[in-house]
Amino acid sequence: LTKQIVLAMIAGIAVGLLFNFFNTSQILGAGVTDFINNYLTSGLFDIIGRIFIASLKLMVVPLVLVSLVCGSCALSEGSRMGVLAGKTVVLYLVTTALAISLALLLALVIQPGSGLEGIVGGGTFEAKPSPPLSDVLVNIFPTNPVEAMAKGNMLQIIVFALLMGYAISRSGKPGQRIAGFFNDLNDVIMRMVSVLMVFAPYGVFALLANKIAQLGLDAILQLLKYFMVVLLALALHGLGVYSLLFKLLTGLNPLQLLKKMRPAMVFAFSTASSAATMPVTLQTVEKRLGVDNKVASFTIPLGATINMDGTAIMQGVATVFISQLYGIEIGLMGYLTVILTATLASIGTAGVPGVGLIMLAMVLQQVGLPLEGIAIVMGVDRLLDMVRTAVNITGDAVVTTIVAKSEGALNLGTFDDDNYHSVVN
Ligand code: ASP
Repeated sequence: LTKQIVLAMIAGIAVGLLFNFFNTSQILGAGVTDFINNYLTSGLFDIIGRIFIASLKLMVVPLVLVSLVCGSCALSEGSRMGVLAGKTVVLYLVTTALAISLALLLALVIQPGSGLEGIVGGGTFEAKPSPPLSDVLVNIFPTNPVEAMAKGNMLQIIVFALLMGYAISRSGKPGQRIAGFFNDLNDVIMRMVSVLMVFAPYGVFALLANKIAQLGLDAILQLLKYFMVVLLALALHGLGVYSLLFKLLTGLNPLQLLKKMRPAMVFAFSTASSAATMPVTLQTVEKRLGVDNKVASFTIPLGATINMDGTAIMQGVATVFISQLYGIEIGLMGYLTVILTATLASIGTAGVPGVGLIMLAMVLQQVGLPLEGIAIVMGVDRLLDMVRTAVNITGDAVVTTIVAKSEGALNLGTFDDDNYHSVVN
């Protein structure tokens, strides 16, 4: 299935590019092009793609709730919850701050905005007012667990599941019965994810063919330097920084992790949503990398919500780019503010497509740069969104494996084993 998913990705990109070419060149005449647009890309492919994303999202809430209740129950028995949470949050914040610093540095050296000052002026961007930090904090605590689940509010579900798992572990006999029920339910839900995976190649193909066909390649050419700097920073962080950190903190081979994460990265790339990819990320770190459920069930949903290194990279490069376009110098204090705001902004926002631009609005506002700049980078954001989402979920897996290793919750046999035991093997 892994091979099929990767093949589907390549085929989807190829077909998308071909359709994109037909659209821009009109080489086939209006009739055929209209047919392709109306019946294939915006028709069949769109339908299959949307059903595929729905089937992934369908699993997110049950999976997080049940899996985390099991995980926190096991953790509470060993009373390691606090330590684990502390390590995870610190690592998530540190990797995000590293990511954005790297992005700022690269952008300041390469200067993607110089010479492009003329394009300033077109388009506007309406920013939604961002909630104050105190609200973000208070909103983590649910008033109604059913509402939290209905709305898919990840942080609230996490709080509820942690509390429930803790209570189960302290409830004696009744607790044991409920724990048994949740453990069984967890196996069944994992199986549901595996069943849905069978359709993944079709979903991946349809999503990519549709999205790539609609990409504005002209816009990318115009902003090529910005585009390339973001990609370069994403590659350096995703391959270099993670590998180094992983090797340093675990002593294990980072290539093994990257190799096993490949199918999950394809999912993230084609859906552009870390939230929708979460069922796959969770399965991958547990079944292929050998992380114990009691760690992964907490760190992966948390990471999908608060850890977005790839998104932080885009914000770093975009801030420098926009400041160069408008000829506004924000200075060292400005850059430090960018690092702080971008790191904090990622906590309150969910991992769904395009949310990075909303976070960018918060950052620009904070350092006094014009929000109209977002209208300029927006044209090339979809493809970058896809790539940075792959980096986002890789970051979650790296931190999860590091934390698991330090807690003695990593099965080294599974980690080293090349015969993958998983849905996507
Ligand atoms: N699409 C990204 C994610 O889900 C967020 C973003 O950068 O817009 O992780």
